[in-house]
Amino acid sequence: MFRCRHLVGAGGTACPVRRALFEEAQPRPRDLQTVTLEVEFPFDWRDPDCHLWFFEHGLPGYSWYVPKAAGWLNVGIGAMAARLKKRGEHIREHWRHLAAKMSRQFGIPLPDDPPGYSYYVRGPVESARIENAFLVGDAAGLATRDLCEGIGPAIRSGFKAADSILLGRPFDLGELASRSLGDGVVSRWMDWSFTRGAAPAT
Ligand SMILES: Cc1cc2nc3c(=O)[nH]c(=O)nc-3n(C[C@H](O)[C@H](O)[C@H](O)COP(=O)(O)OP(=O)(O)OC[C@H]3O[C@@H](n4cnc5c(N)ncnc54)[C@H](O)[C@@H]3O)c2cc1C
Repeated sequence: MFRCRHLVGAGGTACPVRRALFEEAQPRPRDLQTVTLEVEFPFDWRDPDCHLWFFEHGLPGYSWYVPKAAGWLNVGIGAMAARLKKRGEHIREHWRHLAAKMSRQFGIPLPDDPPGYSYYVRGPVESARIENAFLVGDAAGLATRDLCEGIGPAIRSGFKAADSILLGRPFDLGELASRSLGDGVVSRWMDWSFTRGAAPAT
């Protein structure tokens, strides 16, 4: 039970506010779910560039090599869960391909069992408010449909919830961009490549 004047569900994919109040009003389309594996560890990297590899081995997603400051390295892979399942594949098979490439190309050893995460890219969002309860960020499923980026939308939706609570402004998440790269042909193609047009953003 919640007792408060305003309630903001900002707990990410497994947000308890979402589970308690929004499950029916805003169901999450399975076709928009991502599955990811990622590791971040201290590593004396040599290549300072960020690398992204799209659709390798038929992956409905991409993998990345991101060198960070102070000798840290982030390596990961993400894909659309339902499309992987339809292909009869598991994200861990693709991790093995990535690990082999990392070892070959960069001399970087990756663990066999990286931790996994999941979140949803942007679908319909008009029901992310029920009276004085709000959903923001991954709790509302706001990551972009072309690059699956959720940090910007999480921050912007948080500002919108604050504006609604403090200033009485409408809480319209439909105003947030559903793609990272705009509405050009590349961005729309990336969106389609990942989502196949499922549950369009509203
Ligand atoms: C491997 C991976 C790589 C990604 N890379 C990028 C990227 O490069 N760029 C990008 O834009 N996006 C990226 N994303 C997506 C991005 O991380 C998320 O969309 C974003 O973090 C969502 O922010 P959030 O605040 O809504 O949720 P979260 O970051 O998940 O934060 C939710 C917080 O709520 C807390 N919480 C949960 N339940 C409770 C509770 N009951 N009580 C109190 N606290 C609770 C959690 O501990 C957590 O701190 C990536 C995601 C993954 C999994």
